[in-house]
Amino acid sequence: MCLNPNETAPNPSHFEESEETAAAHRDIAWNDYRDLIKGMRFFDPHIHMVSRTTDDYQAMHQAGIVALIEPAFWVGQPRTGLSSFKDYYSSLVGWERFRSSQFGIKHYCTMGLNSREANNEPLAEQVMEILPLYIYKEGVVGVGEIGFDDQTPAEEKYYRLQLELAKEAKLPVQIHTPHRDKKKGTERSMAIAIEHGIDPSWVIVDHNNEETVKSVLDKGFWAAFTIYPFTKMGNERMVKVVEQYGPERIMINSAADWGISDPLAIPKTAALMKMKGISDETIRLVTYQNAIDAFGKSGQIDVTDFEGGYEIDQSAKFHGNSILRGGQQPAPVKDSLVIR
Ligand SMILES: [Zn+2]
Repeated sequence: MCLNPNETAPNPSHFEESEETAAAHRDIAWNDYRDLIKGMRFFDPHIHMVSRTTDDYQAMHQAGIVALIEPAFWVGQPRTGLSSFKDYYSSLVGWERFRSSQFGIKHYCTMGLNSREANNEPLAEQVMEILPLYIYKEGVVGVGEIGFDDQTPAEEKYYRLQLELAKEAKLPVQIHTPHRDKKKGTERSMAIAIEHGIDPSWVIVDHNNEETVKSVLDKGFWAAFTIYPFTKMGNERMVKVVEQYGPERIMINSAADWGISDPLAIPKTAALMKMKGISDETIRLVTYQNAIDAFGKSGQIDVTDFEGGYEIDQSAKFHGNSILRGGQQPAPVKDSLVIR
């Protein structure tokens, strides 16, 4: 959810203005880093799997991602009616959760009205009416991703209403900070949350950078960082942030979505941290445990669901449908040149 649709940018999804000219992100092949992260478990607290493929699920599972959170999000074009919100929310607790389980990954989600679509007030009003039907569902670990995009009065109105909803439901809040005017938007998001009497330890402020992190941590909020190719944070910069601030209340995520993004951002960053001499315990905190502690306040995360590994039965069905199409066999061998 990001840019004005009239703007043209190479990556409109989680894009932010960036003063960097050189790409902060470099690709490394699985064989380059598999041994560095051997035995590590990862939790991606922000990734939009409805936009990703089965190849992604398989690669994530192979790289050690055992659980994830899918925040409710903007789909890339404005929804035209309430039904598409309903179907989307239903898929986050339904088909997508099932699909994830078929690849051995525990799927949670956060529910919310995204900031861009808060600007369509007649529709936003209707969405606010149905949101309570979804936030109490099993596996919903927060209200999110909410906050500011263009920092309009309508965005503020629905952000405040959803903070109240989170408070009432005793759920953590996942804040999307704006791409433009990030510093100001981040400060404003935190000030409003405090004004609503929300304990900062219940709020995960997302898409931080070097400019926002200190203030977020000083105020007692969780600081999430999105490792996103070219735009938000490269993982070399992320290593420096962890070196400077330590692991406390810091977590990283991929925010992979329908734009150019990397669902393996966490395992790759863990490998890079390992190469740079960061301790295993610090890596574990920022790539796994802190996300569980923050979103676990919802009471919805039971680590025994994913720490012991999954029995995957890819012939299982969700409402009569399986992920196998037309008599496919489960889990084909991915490295095989011949596709049968
Ligand atoms: Zn997102």
